[in-house]
Amino acid sequence: MNRPFSFVAGFAACVSLLVLIAATQSPTRAIPDRDVYYPGSEDLAPDEMRIVALGTGMPSVRPKQAAACWLVELGNGDKFLFDIGSGCHERLAAQKIPYDYLNKIFIGHLHVDHMGDLPSVWLGGTVMNRLVPLRIWGPSGGTPELGTAHAMDLMKQMYAWDIGTRSGVIDFRGGALEVHEFAFDGVNEVIFEENGVVVRSIPAVHGLDGAVSFILEWNGLKFVYGSDTIPNKWYIEHAKGADVAVHECFLPATLLVTKQGFAPQEALMVGTQGHTSPEQFGKVMSLVKPRLAIGYHFYNDYDTEPEVRKRARKTYDGPLALALDYMVFNVTKDDIRIRMSAIDEEVWPSPPLKKKIAPDTGSAIAFSEFTISGALGFPEIVQPLFDEINEKYGTKAEPIFKK
Ligand SMILES: [Zn+2]
Ligand SMILES: [Zn+2]
Repeated sequence: MNRPFSFVAGFAACVSLLVLIAATQSPTRAIPDRDVYYPGSEDLAPDEMRIVALGTGMPSVRPKQAAACWLVELGNGDKFLFDIGSGCHERLAAQKIPYDYLNKIFIGHLHVDHMGDLPSVWLGGTVMNRLVPLRIWGPSGGTPELGTAHAMDLMKQMYAWDIGTRSGVIDFRGGALEVHEFAFDGVNEVIFEENGVVVRSIPAVHGLDGAVSFILEWNGLKFVYGSDTIPNKWYIEHAKGADVAVHECFLPATLLVTKQGFAPQEALMVGTQGHTSPEQFGKVMSLVKPRLAIGYHFYNDYDTEPEVRKRARKTYDGPLALALDYMVFNVTKDDIRIRMSAIDEEVWPSPPLKKKIAPDTGSAIAFSEFTISGALGFPEIVQPLFDEINEKYGTKAEPIFKK
């Protein structure tokens, strides 16, 4: 007796499913979910964390992979950069985020592949409409000369000419640096606490004294960022309970020899004693047990990824991502979604969020008479350009070079 009824019910269910598919599929209607992240097109939910890999490669940057940089965006509006390695600036720009929001940078150690694009984001940011100071957190070193504060002082000196061209010429509020150096040997010490977000630092073992890893906690979510380190007891103890744990996962020594031309002994030293091999990475993650383990810091290609994954799998069988630039992780308490970004290569900086203020022209540095003597003003060409703008906007700008 039941069979015909079940058949009818089943048939009706099939028909309604087909009707539903027909209603959502159409040659003129967009397919709603294509598993691609388009920067600047999605709201963040109030309880959501979005992590974007902006640099996952090596010191020798290449079109496919910049050096270390990770963006963390929170549903409370805060955004954090962890490391700011060479080549990452263009990836950061591709996120279509106003530069005023990108003013908190945490540097795990002072290798160029972890801070190489800092000058570009700092000074380039001043002409790309950042009108707030750039805030930088970084570790002390074994001596004051090896610490972050000293490095930032010298960076300012190194870019004296660049700063000189802008002082008194543009609104230079974004050129101010707010540097927070903290003790490299602090264990799980709070180095940032604002707006419900806590960032802690733990020591790392890499290069010299003065390398650290970071732990960000907000709204019950925990993100751990390894910068560079070999396996260490602090990471394993304090990364526990992480929703997302990022840790370097270097190329195996075999590939360092065959693809990168390292001598065998050099490959072993670099690949296991200065950095973390895939097998060591897997061991770390099997002890930390994060909801998602992310390995990075290797040339991630069709032929290297399977080898790195196979070796990491010898020591770890939990959730794993081997990061590429533009990989995006949306994290909530219930879900971690992994996608790749689609990039608009013609992205422009967003308009300023604050009203620009006129600079104090008295602090501008003048050209010498010598340089001025070489300038050709071409007033017959330039004056009409000034007239065009002055007429359109009601301004009274005048060229500097009149002859
Ligand atoms: Zn390093
Ligand atoms: Zn590195």
